[in-house]
Amino acid sequence: MASTVVDKAVFPRDKICGDALSGKVVEVLNKLDKNLVQELSENQQEFLPSWGVNFVAPSGELLRVPFKTKKENTTAPGFIAKRLYFDNWLAEKLKSNPLITLHENTEVREVERKERWRLASKDGKIFESDLVIACDGAYSSFSKNIAGLTTEPPHNCFGLRAYYKNVSGLDDENFIELHFLQNVLPGYFWIFPLPDGYANVGIGMRADKLQDRKLNLKKLLQQAVAENPAIAKRFERASLVGDVKLFGLPLGSKKRPLSGAGYLLCGDAAQLIDPFTGEGIGNAMMSGMFAANQAAKCAQQNNFSSSNLQQYDAELYHRLWSELQLSYTMQRLVNFPWLFNLVVRKANANPLLRETISCMFEDMDMRARLSSPLFYLKLLFSPTQNVKL
Ligand SMILES: Cc1cc2nc3c(=O)[nH]c(=O)nc-3n(C[C@H](O)[C@H](O)[C@H](O)COP(=O)(O)OP(=O)(O)OC[C@H]3O[C@@H](n4cnc5c(N)ncnc54)[C@H](O)[C@@H]3O)c2cc1C
Repeated sequence: MASTVVDKAVFPRDKICGDALSGKVVEVLNKLDKNLVQELSENQQEFLPSWGVNFVAPSGELLRVPFKTKKENTTAPGFIAKRLYFDNWLAEKLKSNPLITLHENTEVREVERKERWRLASKDGKIFESDLVIACDGAYSSFSKNIAGLTTEPPHNCFGLRAYYKNVSGLDDENFIELHFLQNVLPGYFWIFPLPDGYANVGIGMRADKLQDRKLNLKKLLQQAVAENPAIAKRFERASLVGDVKLFGLPLGSKKRPLSGAGYLLCGDAAQLIDPFTGEGIGNAMMSGMFAANQAAKCAQQNNFSSSNLQQYDAELYHRLWSELQLSYTMQRLVNFPWLFNLVVRKANANPLLRETISCMFEDMDMRARLSSPLFYLKLLFSPTQNVKL
C-alpha cells in the first residue's frame, strides 16, 4: 500500500523532549525489524545505551533501579539520544522505503472531507486521500478542529528542556535520573546523560498544579540548578548550551475517541503520554504501529467508516489503558512525599523490594502491585529489613 507522509519540518529537526527512548521504543523497533536496535547500539556517538533509573525521593535519598535486562549478549533496554538524531534516523528509514513518499517543509493548513479528504499545504500543495493518520503532535490542529479533542489542564503537563555540557556525577551505566523535588510534586526535575558530554536537563509539572500554585517552571529549573544543595554542586562547572525551551505534554490519563470517519489519531495528537513518567515516544510509536495495521485492514475492505476504524481505539487501548491507569495512580501517589520517602528508604534496605521495583519497568503485574494500597499498608507495618510483598 503506497503512503504519503507530510511534515512541516525539514529533517534533521529538533523536538523539545527529554530524549529518553524507553523499553517500549525498543519493543516497537524490534517488531518492525530485529536489526534496528542493533543499529542504534552501534552508533554510540548519537545513541547512549541506558541500563536503569535513579530515583531521588523528596527526602534526597537515592534509589538506584537497574532495568531487569541482563547485560550479557544483549543490546541495552533503553537509549538516550537527541531527538535531532533519533527522528532523523526514522526519517531516513522512511526515505529509503519505496512505498512511502515523504514531503518535508510542507505545513498542512486546510483540511476538508467530502467524498475523500483534501489537505492543502501552506505552499499550495494538495493531497487527497481516503484515510488521514493525524500525528501532528501536542498542538495538533487536526485533533482539535476535526476530532474535537480538548486540552484539559489536569490531563496536561508542561515541560522545560535545557542542554548542558559537563554536568558532573553522571551514572557510569547511563542511568536516567528523576529527582522528585518537594516543590515540583507531582512532577519532577530530570538529568538524562547524552553522548559527547551533554546532558538533557529539564523539569515538568501538571498544568493545573502550575496554574493553581502560580509557579514559573523556568524559575524552578534555575533554583534546582543553582540552589538545591545536592544538584547545584554538580552544575558548578557545567554550561548551558542553547536556550531553555517549553512544550506541552498531553497526558493519557483520560480515555479519548481516537478515530472517526476517515481518520485515526496517533501519538501526542491522540494524547497518549504516560502520566507518571512523561514518556510519550514509545506510546506514539506503538499507536503508529496499530494505526498502520488498521489502515491496511480498512484499505483491503475499502471501508474507512468510523465504525470500521473504531477497532483501532479498542485495540490500542487494550494494549495501553491498564498501563496508563496505573501510571495515573502512581502520579497521584507522588502527591504524598512521605510515602515516596518511605518506599525509597525501605527499598534501599531490602533487596526483594528493590527487585520488585526493578521488575515494574518490564512487568505489568509488578507495576499493578506498586499501585495497590495494600502494598503501602504492608510497607508501613513491616519491619524495614523483612518486607515480604
Ligand atoms: C519537555 C518534554 C520532555 C519529554 N521527555 C520525554 C522523554 O524523555 N521520553 C519520551 O518518551 N517522551 C518524552 N516527551 C514526550 C515526547 O516528546 C512526545 O510524546 C513525542 O514526541 C510524541 O511524538 P509525536 O510523533 O506524536 O509528535 P511530535 O514528535 O511532536 O511530532 C509531530 C510532527 O508533526 C509535524 N507537524 C505539526 N503540525 C504540522 C502541520 N500542520 N503540517 C505538517 N506537519 C506538522 C511536526 O513538524 C512534527 O515533526 C517529552 C515531552 C516534552 C515536552
